[in-house]
Amino acid sequence: MNDIISQMGETVFAVVFVLGALLFAVLTAWVRSSEAKEQLKKNPVKKCPFCAETVKLEAKVCKHCGRDLEPVNSQPAMEQVIQEVQAPAKDSTLEEYERWKKSKGLQ
Ligand SMILES: [Zn+2]
Repeated sequence: MNDIISQMGETVFAVVFVLGALLFAVLTAWVRSSEAKEQLKKNPVKKCPFCAETVKLEAKVCKHCGRDLEPVNSQPAMEQVIQEVQAPAKDSTLEEYERWKKSKGLQ
């Protein structure tokens, strides 16, 4: 009888532990995604197609490899960059996820 009670106690503890870990993971992902978006708004960047280093969005020349880049100034292009850099967070809606999947050509 005592065994059953202690087993139940362990199960409850395990459930609480897993739920707590999940909540922590979701919160961390959410904080990280909003921080990344803030960072991109303040300092928009893109990836150099030649050396794959991060350069400023409006850069005409890559500071890492020195090759010519196409400057991106338009807002939609910046949104594209944000979508590429930022995979959907775990707590984003299905609609957002589908849009992201389409933008990545996964469908
Ligand atoms: Zn480069």
